[in-house]
Amino acid sequence: MNKAKRRAVIAGNWKMNKNRAEAKTLITELLPLVKEAGCEVVICTPYTNLETALALTEGSNVKVGAENCHWAESGAFTGEISAPMLKELGVQYVIIGHSERRQYFGETDGTVAKRVRAALESGLEVILCVGETLEQREADITGETIAIQVKKALAGVTAEELRHIIIAYEPVWAIGTGKTATDEQANEVNHMIRELLGKLYGEEAAEATTIQYGGSMNAKNAAGLLAQPDIDGGLIGGASLKAPDFAAIVEAASK
Ligand code: PEP
Repeated sequence: MNKAKRRAVIAGNWKMNKNRAEAKTLITELLPLVKEAGCEVVICTPYTNLETALALTEGSNVKVGAENCHWAESGAFTGEISAPMLKELGVQYVIIGHSERRQYFGETDGTVAKRVRAALESGLEVILCVGETLEQREADITGETIAIQVKKALAGVTAEELRHIIIAYEPVWAIGTGKTATDEQANEVNHMIRELLGKLYGEEAAEATTIQYGGSMNAKNAAGLLAQPDIDGGLIGGASLKAPDFAAIVEAASK
């Protein structure tokens, strides 16, 4: 296992939080705190804050992402945003398949795969979320659940395209609940995902893929999680809404 072969990425998922004024305040506070980061720093904001985030981060080391995109280029999909629209704005990253999308908005492995395809074709970097529910963990089918999600989302994705995909392992029971997977639990699943990528794409591609952990990661528990051999960064919800907390996680990933 060689972590040096892959980029560490700390990405904030703001979810449906922050109006424009609040976004400006948060980004302005964050930029100086993370300017020496030894890892990649991404903030994924609501659509309404993307232009503000892009303008404020211009020329900085902080990249901007969206929280979802539709699979079609354009058309009769009221309320949706396409990948080319994001690309045109200057957005670099997009989260796809977040468990809240799966849970509340009918996202399936099939629609996740279509969104991944659209994002790749538009030249966006994808943060693909996978994770088991508490029920699935208790039924001892975590491995199978994650394997199906990964295989279905990556159906048709080539080894070349895989370089533009980060996988975020996010146990559903740990998101926004304050319950974090232990360092070992999180690493075990990340390792399993890497082994699966090895079978699908070969060892070199698997070793080069960034696999994050997400689920109540915070300033206190980040160092332990990020020290694990298969955890290459984090997708951060709640703690990304406070600049010092997010910056502390970035610092832990920079070591
Ligand atoms: C997330 O939204 O992806 C997430 C991990 O949230 P939290 O950090 O709040 O659990």
